[in-house]
Amino acid sequence: MALTLLRGIRTPTLFRRNAGLFFTTIHPPLSSFTTRAESVQATESKAAPKSIQLATKEAAEHKTQGFEAVIGIETHVQLSTVTKAFCSCPYNYGSQPNSTVCPTCMGHPGTLPVLNAKVVECAVKLGLALNCEISMTSKFDRKQYFYPDLPKGYQISQFDIPIAKEGYLDLDLPVEFGGGHRRFGVTRVHMEEDAGKLLHSESGSYSQVDLNRAGVPLLEIVSEPDMRTGIEAAEYGAEIQRLVRYLGVSNGNMQEGSLRCDVNVSVRPVGQSKFGTKVEIKNMNSFSAINRAIDYEISRQIVLHKEGQADQIVQETRLWDESSQKTFTMRKKEGLADYRYFPEPDLPEIVLTSDYIDEIHKSMPELPEAKRRRYENMGLSMQDVLFLANDDNVARFFDSTLEHDADAKLAANWIMGDIAAYLKNEKLSIDEIKLTPLELSELIASIKNGTISGKIGKEILIELIAKGGTVKSVIEEKDLVQIADPVAIEAMVDQALADNPKQLEQYRAGKTKLQGFFAGQVMKASKGKANPVLLNKILAGITAGGASAGGCVLWAMLSLPWMVSGTASSPGKASPNMLLSSSNCT
Ligand SMILES: [Zn+2]
Repeated sequence: MALTLLRGIRTPTLFRRNAGLFFTTIHPPLSSFTTRAESVQATESKAAPKSIQLATKEAAEHKTQGFEAVIGIETHVQLSTVTKAFCSCPYNYGSQPNSTVCPTCMGHPGTLPVLNAKVVECAVKLGLALNCEISMTSKFDRKQYFYPDLPKGYQISQFDIPIAKEGYLDLDLPVEFGGGHRRFGVTRVHMEEDAGKLLHSESGSYSQVDLNRAGVPLLEIVSEPDMRTGIEAAEYGAEIQRLVRYLGVSNGNMQEGSLRCDVNVSVRPVGQSKFGTKVEIKNMNSFSAINRAIDYEISRQIVLHKEGQADQIVQETRLWDESSQKTFTMRKKEGLADYRYFPEPDLPEIVLTSDYIDEIHKSMPELPEAKRRRYENMGLSMQDVLFLANDDNVARFFDSTLEHDADAKLAANWIMGDIAAYLKNEKLSIDEIKLTPLELSELIASIKNGTISGKIGKEILIELIAKGGTVKSVIEEKDLVQIADPVAIEAMVDQALADNPKQLEQYRAGKTKLQGFFAGQVMKASKGKANPVLLNKILAGITAGGASAGGCVLWAMLSLPWMVSGTASSPGKASPNMLLSSSNCT
């Protein structure tokens, strides 16, 4: 197929590539070296002035004192292709330095790049996911600059014709940050190659270069300057991460550098259309750090504006320092760099057909935004929606549970409650546990139809998560069927009352607190299997003067609403059929 799509490519090597994707594994970093960003020395005091600290707090409270921030983000996504962009070397994060290199990615003279067709496919996928216009014809360009981790002296990138442009990204802000739907513009998505990595010795006296990363395919996504707060920018980054993971084009791990966000922040008086001087912030390795770095930077710039020192805001690159929670100058920009771009002479144009784009479109999974809207339409709260759609695996588990006829809210409660807590404690992902969506739906059904109580359901859940098996087998094996027969419960209540005549007298005299005592006695006798709702109703009936042991309170309960609406938090309802057939109060 690629033959018809990528016209004019000179060497057949392109078509030998494997189509599968791979995911990198985490390895401990080389401890005696630091990377380029880490080695940069602060050029100003790290102690934040009091006025900035105060302003940071105010910015967090969205009090920007007549100013507004303008934020744009450049995101680099490292693609999880089997081989690099222009040679057949693999890339595995954490491998021995310079172990996955060849003359092409080391930039030896005379070598020729051969485009990996998978890179184009990933770019089109992400472009479509970002609602972009896809360029039917685009090209690669050389971006010239010198740096020791770039032996060729240029980076293969896309300059004037990116593969995708003019799109947008929809997201929902977390409820705890005020919530709300946002749409941010995407200026362009283009393909390029990564550079190598410098490893600086601890003494700072020498550096070494690792070219494993050289030539690894990247997609750069440039946003419109549409964000106004740190949380909007952080959520934009998080949504890009969700997208690339849903699409399977990247593992999106920030700690490994698979997803890197460079943020541009400027501040201007509200109502002014001209942008203020923008400052770039790098070196943020979490979305929370992006949020805090931007809010700090906004405050710093507002303080300078208010103190009449706006001229001190200069075009520069600043780094976020996690320990002092502030940004500091990395380097001032002397002017716009001239990279002397020109069309890459060793690579042909990239020509796509509409059939190719349609094929990719059809192969795409349901994306986070569509999923969120679908979950919202099920009546789930935004908190539930955001939790479930955040992780593709969790969403798939949830959807699969619903396919087995589970109630959406109950399934969401179990996944977000006990299952999520277990995953967090054991540091597992949902696809690593032994519980299946089918058994979760069985568990929910067993509680709903009164076979087991909610409390016992929690115990069974933990067993299934850890060991697997079926709800039915665990119930049978451990004799856990809930006692929902009112006659049986009444008999147990009778026994408890008979065993404790003194307490019974006090209870009948109005000491209602003793209901808990009797409930406890019955629960103990039934090994936790008595239906708690039914039990308490029977006990309550005793003080109401209606029935004593063996009384006829049951009839009064037959039409109560709790009998037809159980929830995971108040589980354990009796079956109306059981009540009718077993009642001896005629
Ligand atoms: Zn190579």
